[in-house]
Amino acid sequence: MIVPRLIERKREGGRIEEDEWHELVRDYAAGKVPDYQMSALLMAIYFRGLDRGETNALTDAMISSGGQLELGHLTTARIDKHSTGGVGDKVSLILAPLIASLGVAVPMMSGRGLGHTGGTLDKLESIPGFRTDLTLKEAARQVERIGCALIGQTREIAPADRKLYALRDATATVEVIPLIAASIMSKKLAEGLTGLVLDVKQGSGAFIADPDRAQKLARAMIELGADRGCPVIALMTAMDRPLGFACGNALEVRESIDALRGTGPADLMEVTYALGAEMLILAGAASTSAQAWAMMQDSISSGHALEKFAQIIEAQGGDARIVERQEILPSAPKREEFTAARDGVIVEVAPRTVGHGVISLRGGRRTMEDLIDPSVGFVITAKPGDKVKRGASLATIHALDEAGIREGMNALAEAITIGDEGGEPLSLVSHRITADGVARWARPEA
Ligand code: URA
Repeated sequence: MIVPRLIERKREGGRIEEDEWHELVRDYAAGKVPDYQMSALLMAIYFRGLDRGETNALTDAMISSGGQLELGHLTTARIDKHSTGGVGDKVSLILAPLIASLGVAVPMMSGRGLGHTGGTLDKLESIPGFRTDLTLKEAARQVERIGCALIGQTREIAPADRKLYALRDATATVEVIPLIAASIMSKKLAEGLTGLVLDVKQGSGAFIADPDRAQKLARAMIELGADRGCPVIALMTAMDRPLGFACGNALEVRESIDALRGTGPADLMEVTYALGAEMLILAGAASTSAQAWAMMQDSISSGHALEKFAQIIEAQGGDARIVERQEILPSAPKREEFTAARDGVIVEVAPRTVGHGVISLRGGRRTMEDLIDPSVGFVITAKPGDKVKRGASLATIHALDEAGIREGMNALAEAITIGDEGGEPLSLVSHRITADGVARWARPEA
C-alpha cells in the first residue's frame, strides 16, 4: 500500500475505496503505517470529509480490527444507549438496570470523562470493588445471565479506533463528523446490538454545541446503523445546564440510586424516560411511548429496577449494599453551601464551567494519567428560571480540603449567573431523529 497516494487523492477531494480502507486500518493497527502518514491523511479528511460509503468502510475496518460481543444466539432484543456526553449526565446508570429489569438485554459500553464531561466508567468505579474491565467473554456471559453488563472499551474492541482516536486527539482532527460517527459506531456495533438509542446533546456544554452539527452527527450514526440492519434512533437533549443536581462521580451514583427509588430530580427522570421509551419500543417490549413510560414507572415503584442495579453491581464485584446504605460510597471530608449573592432569577448554570470545576476539585482528569478522587463535586439545586433570594442555598460543594472549597466557590461564582429576568433554556428533549427524518419530540400524554 502506497499511503502517500491515498493522502494525495484525499487532499485533492477524491475517495478511498473499501479495500483500501481495510488495508490501511489493518496496517495502521499493526504499526506498519507510521503516525506521520496517518496524521497527514486525517488532516486531508478534516478538510475534504468522507462520503457515506467511505464512512461505512472505515467503520467496518475498525470493527474487524478486534473482537465482538457474541450475543447473536440470544432471542431477546439487545439495546444500548449512547450519549455524546455532558455534565451531570448519569442517565446510563439508571437506564441500564431499568431497561434490563423489563426483560431487554442491555450490553452497555461506556467511556471515561473526556474534557469537561464526566464518564460512566469513572462513576461506576466510585462503587467500592466495581470492575468495568470485564473481558468480552465475561460480559457476554453476564448479559446472558442477568440481562446487563456495564463495561469499558476493552483492548479487544476496535483497537484500531483506540489508536486512531489518540492520534486525532494529538493532531486536532477529532471534530470531523464522519470520523466521530465511525469511531462511536465501531464500538457500539461490536456489541452485537439489535438497536441503539443515541442521546445527542446540544447547547453550551455539549461536545458539539451547534445544534445543526449535532443533528448531522446523529444522522451520520443513524445511517451507519441502517446500513448494517441495526436501527438507530436519536433524541436531541439539552446540555445548556447540568442534568439533575449532582456533578461528580460518587455524588452521581447517589443521585442515580435516588432515581431508581423514584426520588430523582424531574429533569433527569424526563430525559431517562424519554430515552428508555425509545429503547423499549426498539426492543418490541412496548408499542407506544405512553405504555413504555408506565412500564418504567412501575419497575421503579415496585423496586425491580433498583434490585437489578444491585444484581449488576454484585456480578461485577462491587459492594451492592450501597443501594441501601449510600454512606458506603466515598464521601468528601469538607462540605460547604454556595449561596445567592443577590435577589433575582437564575439566568444560567454553565455546564462547561461546572465540569471544569469538578476537575479542579480533582474529580476529573486533565490528562489520561491523572488519578481522580471519586468523592468530590457539586450538588447544584438551582436551575435556570428559578427565583432566588440573597443568601439562599444554590449548591453544596464537596471537597477534599479548604483549598478545594475555595476552588469550588470560584467555579460556581463563574458558572451561576443571577439576573433580573430568566433566559430561555433549551427544551429538555427537543427532537427525535430516525432514518425517516427529524420531528419535534412530544412527551406522551399521562
Ligand atoms: N467519542 C468517541 O468515542 N469517538 C470520537 O471520535 C468522539 C467522541
